[in-house]
Amino acid sequence: AAAAPDDYLAELNAAQRSAVVHGEGSAGEPLLIIAGAGSGKTNTLAHRVAHLIVKGADPRRILLMTFSRRAASEMTRRVERIAAKVLGDKASVMTEGLTWAGTFHAVGARLLRDHALEIGLDAAFTIHDREDSADLMSFVRHELGLSRTESRFPAKGTCLAIYSRTVNAQAELEAVLAKSFPWCGGWVEELKTLFSTYVEAKQAQNVLDYDDLLLWWAHMCEEPVIAEQLRSRFDHILVDEYQDTNRLQAAILAALKPDGRGLTVVGDDAQSIYSFRAAEVRNILDFPNLFPEPARIVTLDRNYRSTNTVLEAANAVIGEAADRFSKNLWTERRSAERPLLVTVRDDAAQANYICNRVLEERESGTALRAQAVLFRASHHSGPLEVELTRRNIPFIKFGGLKFLDAAHVKDLLALLRFAENPRDRVAGFRVMQLLPGIGPSAAGAAVEAMERALDPILGLQFFKVPTRAEEDWPAFVELFSALRGRSAWPADFERARLWYEPHLERLHEDAAARRADLLQLEQIAGGHPSRERFLTDLTLDPPDATSGEAGPPHLDEDYLILSTIHSAKGQEWTKVFVLNAVDGCIPIDLAVGERDDLEEERRLLYVAMTRAKDTLHLVTPQRFYVNGQSARGDRHVYASRTRFIPDHILDRFEHISWPPPLAEPGRLPQPEVRIDLKTKMRGMWR
Ligand code: ATP
Ligand code: MG
Repeated sequence: AAAAPDDYLAELNAAQRSAVVHGEGSAGEPLLIIAGAGSGKTNTLAHRVAHLIVKGADPRRILLMTFSRRAASEMTRRVERIAAKVLGDKASVMTEGLTWAGTFHAVGARLLRDHALEIGLDAAFTIHDREDSADLMSFVRHELGLSRTESRFPAKGTCLAIYSRTVNAQAELEAVLAKSFPWCGGWVEELKTLFSTYVEAKQAQNVLDYDDLLLWWAHMCEEPVIAEQLRSRFDHILVDEYQDTNRLQAAILAALKPDGRGLTVVGDDAQSIYSFRAAEVRNILDFPNLFPEPARIVTLDRNYRSTNTVLEAANAVIGEAADRFSKNLWTERRSAERPLLVTVRDDAAQANYICNRVLEERESGTALRAQAVLFRASHHSGPLEVELTRRNIPFIKFGGLKFLDAAHVKDLLALLRFAENPRDRVAGFRVMQLLPGIGPSAAGAAVEAMERALDPILGLQFFKVPTRAEEDWPAFVELFSALRGRSAWPADFERARLWYEPHLERLHEDAAARRADLLQLEQIAGGHPSRERFLTDLTLDPPDATSGEAGPPHLDEDYLILSTIHSAKGQEWTKVFVLNAVDGCIPIDLAVGERDDLEEERRLLYVAMTRAKDTLHLVTPQRFYVNGQSARGDRHVYASRTRFIPDHILDRFEHISWPPPLAEPGRLPQPEVRIDLKTKMRGMWR
């Protein structure tokens, strides 16, 4: 039987419902949902999209922007489930049209390809990840002689960070230096030259870096004709996690929806944790008055995620914040169990504690995947990963080292990228040096020969290779021409992999494991419609590393979740463990002193705590290792509990030590002697 229309609305509370049906029939004034963690913001957004579709909106004209590709696909699945309650089987056909769902960067890349010709961009542009960008920055820095003559000139990573911050914050270089990189303040002129040369290099090579995807998009919106096309393309634009957007992203939204009609943004200012990437909490705070008519504001105050004890502890932590937009979250989920504050001796004990607890929880029915271990920086989970591996507990790690960071994976992707765009120097450089006998200078010469030639393939064919490389060169040229020719995807992936394999064996001792990675990557490649889509998707949102060989695990397997707090945004688990809840880690040492930075650290802890549904463990090792791995063992400090849990809120937690302290010697119960074994032993020989 067909459900009553709008059946899914009954699942929502009144405030959520009002956000879902806002603007019924017309686009409606801009909508802001601002509310605390776990109050159903994302859920409400999914219902809103489903409702729009049920009421006849064209899904192809809905733009949905989330914080990760994973979040986008989860959202689309959810929309389909909700819509199915009314539309039944027709829902999947409708939601298939919901193709404009993804991160700002991924959406930007698609729009830029669509409009490339109009803005003088070559649609075959390739995208540089942060490492490629740093490589190009470094290359330019060398070319300009900045690394040689000025030995104290900022390192390539710092240069890239300054460049990126300036672009994303839409700020003046001087202002960015003064605020965030004061030690580089003396290099203004050199940095300007560096950045303009860097921009020229990117253009000459037809590559865009992450920041360009937003920057070009924003500039494209300033061209009246294209702006008009873009505006008429989407009826509805919805953005989750709006508190972590930057100036450039806000400018793009304002350009796409100048009157704000049809625009919905969702977020929580108390969870803003990306200012290091130029995110502006002001975006969400200023949203209500950004448009000609004031935005409709919906706040939600009931938390559906956590038990009251978890929520009260999290509220107490954020309640200490300097500027607080008070949100009193409440919940109906009662629990007698307070969050645990666990004192352990060191890293090793911390790892042990977590393994023990995780296994106990699994015994009593909580699957591994309903449990998560969160930490500030990726390397903090090192000792835990070792212990998990030793005990055969499978895990997947989010936000840490990516599958793509492995050299062999990068090699193969660079090869495909180079074929996609022969002007991409960073890719070309990497690929050519895989051949024996070709070093940086020969690779550079070859890339230049390609640029001078009418056709890059001719450039390769007639390039005078060093003698040692002569043997392998023809096969490389042949592969390159094949990949440049009529494309056959994913067959081209296999072709590239087969060419690479002998080099892999020559270059790496553990070739077998690496070969397995590449086969895994080949499977992923098969799931993408074209080489360009594969490269774009992987560069913008790479798969996460796992405990297995590599690559994402099968969905039916059970595995523990390891994640940085930043990557855990928006998610929830039954049991949550937070590593290193100590001063020096949360807050990180660097942040102490700067008030804004310190406040962001507090929000980071708040985000971590509010991921928990039932149980929360904050682990505080008494010794915390600074500057990297504890394996080196020499740089530890005696740590104390994070300052964000001051004495007067300690009663929200249950305090335990692990392993439990031994009972005091005097109070050990004295056993009675039951059998006189001595006499018995002597008796044996009688
Ligand atoms: P965060 O700030 O962490 O992103 P959020 O506000 O987006 O959180 P959701 O993730 O949407 O919150 O919801 C938290 C949990 O509450 C989810 O498990 C969701 O299914 C559940 N939930 C939300 N609204 C309701 C409701 N009206 N009835 C029952 N459960 C709900
Ligand atoms: Mg959410």
